[in-house]
Amino acid sequence: MSECGTQPPDGSRSGEPELTCEQSLARVYEYLDGELDTAEHDAVRRHLEKCRKCYPHFDFERLFLDYVHELGAGEESRPGLADRVRDMLAAEKS
Ligand SMILES: [Zn+2]
Repeated sequence: MSECGTQPPDGSRSGEPELTCEQSLARVYEYLDGELDTAEHDAVRRHLEKCRKCYPHFDFERLFLDYVHELGAGEESRPGLADRVRDMLAAEKS
């Protein structure tokens, strides 16, 4: 949808993999749920910190998931929750 594949000229200085916007957003649910390993979590976080195109999207989803978690306090592992959130977000975007 949005063309946000701009890479910083010095993006690979540390030798760590740079995530694209698409890759970051694809991991955002696992990121929010703390399901990524340390390296991946860090890679997503670093992308979101410097990518102003992803950040508003990420922030929206974080707030949304906080809200969902509040509604279902203590039931965060309910099956189907992630799918329902995904569906609702997809409906928002279309
Ligand atoms: Zn991005």
